[in-house]
Amino acid sequence: MLCRHQRQQPNGSIYWWCSVRSNKSRCPATVIQSGSDFRPGSHQHNHDSTPGAIIKLKIVSQSKQEAATNVFKPAAQIVNGAMVSHSDHTAPAGSRPNVHNLQTSTNRLREKSRPKDPTDLNFETNYDFLPENFFRKDVVVDSNRHLIFATDSQLDVLSSAKVWYMDATFKIIRKPFYQMFSIHAFLCTGEDNSQLCHRKDFEVEAKEKKI
Ligand SMILES: [Zn+2]
Repeated sequence: MLCRHQRQQPNGSIYWWCSVRSNKSRCPATVIQSGSDFRPGSHQHNHDSTPGAIIKLKIVSQSKQEAATNVFKPAAQIVNGAMVSHSDHTAPAGSRPNVHNLQTSTNRLREKSRPKDPTDLNFETNYDFLPENFFRKDVVVDSNRHLIFATDSQLDVLSSAKVWYMDATFKIIRKPFYQMFSIHAFLCTGEDNSQLCHRKDFEVEAKEKKI
């Protein structure tokens, strides 16, 4: 059994229906999810059920929920996290979803849930999808538009650093973005004579330009 049809109820519960069909009728069995609690509904399966299906359902459910709320996290990481949370190597094979299929459906859900990529510079930034206190300024100069990003802790480090290092890259940028310009500083620990320095990368400014 793979329960994959879900309906959200007004009270927040999610009903998962068994996906098995026989003689043109759907199996009436359900699983009712309330938060992290999963319990069987009142109807039994009209076929032999697969042991371990609840574990599989928990993995699928967590992957779907995270794909809808964490739309920039890679699907592989989402599915792996759900597998680590719920999988049990002593449980029957029916408890393990097909990882490739689950990653594909998780990826599709992420794409559907996140805002469309802008095609030109005249787009409205949807701040709901940005981490809190990360976006700093939207600066327009002539026909160029610059979006500036930094976390509070990054600004703290930069404000106390003696030297800044600037870097620009064009490689990872997609149109209408033109360049990512970043400011870096060295973080140093230890005694002066055995100082260890690590370059700390900050994605401080994403510079956009009409092409
Ligand atoms: Zn069933």
